[in-house]
Amino acid sequence: MVQSSVLGFPRMGANRDLKKANEAYWADKLSRDELIKEAKRLRLAHWQIQKDAGVDVIPSNDFAFYDHLLDHIQLFNAIPERYSKNKLDPLDEYFAMGRGHQKDGVDVPALEMVKWFDSNYHYVKPTLQDNQTFTLSSDPKPIREFLEAKEAGIATRPVLVGPVSFLHLGKADRGQSVDPISLLNKLVPVYVELLKKLKEAGAETVQIDEPVLVQDLPQKVKDAFKPAYEALTASGLPKIVLATYFGDVVHNFDVFPSLQSVYGIHVDLVRNPEQLEAVAGKLGSSQILSAGVVDGRNIWKTNFKRAIEIVETAIQKLGKDRVIVATSSSLLHTPHSLEAEKKLDPEVADWFSFAVQKVSEVTVIAKAVTDGPAAVREALESNAKSMESRATSKRTNNKAVKDRQAAVKPQDHERQSPFPQRLAAQKTHLKLPIFPTTTIGSFPQTKEIRVQRNKFTKGEITAEEYERFIEKEIEEVVRIQEELDLDVLVHGEPERNDMVQYFGERLDGYTFTTNGWVQSYGSRCVRPPIVVGDISRPAAMTVKESKYAASISKKPMKGMLTGPITCLRWSFPRDDVHQSVQAQQLALAIRDEVVDLEAAGVFVIQIDEPALREGLPLRAGEEREKYLSWAVDAFKLSAAGIKDSTQIHSHFCYSEFQDFFHAIAALDADVLSIENSKSDAKLLKVFEDKEYPRHIGPGVYDIHSPRVPAEQEMKDRIGEMLQWLKPEQLWINPDCGLKTRQWKETKAALTNMVNAAKFFREQH
Ligand code: GLN
Ligand code: ZN
Repeated sequence: MVQSSVLGFPRMGANRDLKKANEAYWADKLSRDELIKEAKRLRLAHWQIQKDAGVDVIPSNDFAFYDHLLDHIQLFNAIPERYSKNKLDPLDEYFAMGRGHQKDGVDVPALEMVKWFDSNYHYVKPTLQDNQTFTLSSDPKPIREFLEAKEAGIATRPVLVGPVSFLHLGKADRGQSVDPISLLNKLVPVYVELLKKLKEAGAETVQIDEPVLVQDLPQKVKDAFKPAYEALTASGLPKIVLATYFGDVVHNFDVFPSLQSVYGIHVDLVRNPEQLEAVAGKLGSSQILSAGVVDGRNIWKTNFKRAIEIVETAIQKLGKDRVIVATSSSLLHTPHSLEAEKKLDPEVADWFSFAVQKVSEVTVIAKAVTDGPAAVREALESNAKSMESRATSKRTNNKAVKDRQAAVKPQDHERQSPFPQRLAAQKTHLKLPIFPTTTIGSFPQTKEIRVQRNKFTKGEITAEEYERFIEKEIEEVVRIQEELDLDVLVHGEPERNDMVQYFGERLDGYTFTTNGWVQSYGSRCVRPPIVVGDISRPAAMTVKESKYAASISKKPMKGMLTGPITCLRWSFPRDDVHQSVQAQQLALAIRDEVVDLEAAGVFVIQIDEPALREGLPLRAGEEREKYLSWAVDAFKLSAAGIKDSTQIHSHFCYSEFQDFFHAIAALDADVLSIENSKSDAKLLKVFEDKEYPRHIGPGVYDIHSPRVPAEQEMKDRIGEMLQWLKPEQLWINPDCGLKTRQWKETKAALTNMVNAAKFFREQH
């Protein structure tokens, strides 16, 4: 019999229940016991969903109040002293590491949080000391939750992050120099102790995630697998299914001999189906393969025919008893259930599958390969119909879009002239001073703005009334910027709810959910729009607001657009056409917007691409270069339809460009604004080293904090920047948009910023 398995289930619940409970607890509106009770309710509900669907292998310990890496930090008592010394309640200590703690005389910032591989989920980085020790917590969470499920009559497979990934994803604490992987021999005995206890509690099998196996690994990290898994597979311990996801493991096959004694290996056959053959060939003679064929990262119904073919191929090689049908990764990255989507067009809804639905998909596939297709005929037939409907739908296929793509020529990606000519034209046209000042786009999104937007969405005010309100907001923002004496103004983005959703709502080919929330970090969830079909722009999206703003000021007005890569990365993309095709469609839509903005009298246009870097494939090499090539093409295509005298800006919320500087340079944007105030100014050296010719505005102050930096502080920062950048190259701006700030600090900080710029202007 072929078993079905799920690698992890979303934690939030049907209505972001966990978010609400956590936030209520943080606000002292829910007691510790009530929060714990709510978490238990959610775990049981999620196990029950999987049990009812008939899943054979149900995960436990996939739940986390905040983050599962943070769970492990506490599980192994790898808690930095600045937290442990406060003797907080364990739950509060946990949240203190996740989100900081400022209460009752205790004041500690959070541990660093970073993106989980190439997903939009963030994990808390294990932060290690030179004299680090590890001990098993007195009430280990994996055992507690395993027993909780057992008591409810549900047998589960506990999930742990493996020791090699735990360490390799960690870092030395500030002021420490420990190489995390060197701590392996201290950590492994704690895993062994935990596994022993899990076995005593009744766990037959444990899922141990080693997702770092899909990355390029230093030799010492590869070498760590042998001692680790020799110890973890000693007799008397549960069987181990070692899970990898988000990539292929073929390039790390030299590690496989060290994994011979684990019971099974899980690989992601959605992202990399081609690795099946090679992986099957590498398994030991009795090892099982957990075949990840149901996508844990997207919202599309699984194509049963294709998935069954893949599983059948595995069975041919290994036999039925050595194959498990599984989700490709944890379902953490998918929304809870499609059932909540009452407003979706039924045609489109028929193509989707969220976590609850995916759980059933693994069971159907397992049954189909165990008992033959006849056993699940109805499910297969209706799935085939959905696939057919999606493939042939008018919503998916737009001939005009395809024709336009076919006609794109290489020169469509190029501006009319090289940068020096453009610069000359822009100088005459825009008449900007040296050290020009600007902002990144958004100004404070006040309560009033949110109230009016809500009223408009609910139909409580008319479109006209809302429009007038937005105009009034724009006018105010423009006046304030004039008073501040900024050089390039913006309209302030009061009409935008979110930088991707706003555009998605105005493009054909997109759809939206009402409840499709996915955990991003801690209690924060996002609701990505979904690309369902060929994308096109039925009408101008931002021209009205930008044109109005330009019309009420003599100063140059900067139009604000979200770039094609960011639109794509922060959406659920299609899985039936390559992402480069979707990016090009977005690029053409944005190109039209750029051209329209120029025609409307907006001669500075910023195309934000903060998501460009996170789209980088996990491994260096050919795949990464291919991505950069189509991503850069998409940006250039979106920006190139205008005159030399119109200035293109782009914006990135980071300043580490070392790994892909050639791509940033290839964007050919006239001006780049980048985050820099909290980063090392030395990161700008790469612009000097590579003789970057165009203009750059490294942020001179942090917009994530209400703190107002003094004029001198910004002058110092600008002085540092001038070590690496030429004066005529430098723009003066904040790190990012100001939408989360209050007006008071915004005005104060921008006043200081403008004064700092003027100080340097006088000197040159
Ligand atoms: N223009 C956007 C803003 O100012 C940019 C946001 C971002 O970079 N994430 O809000
Ligand atoms: Zn930004």
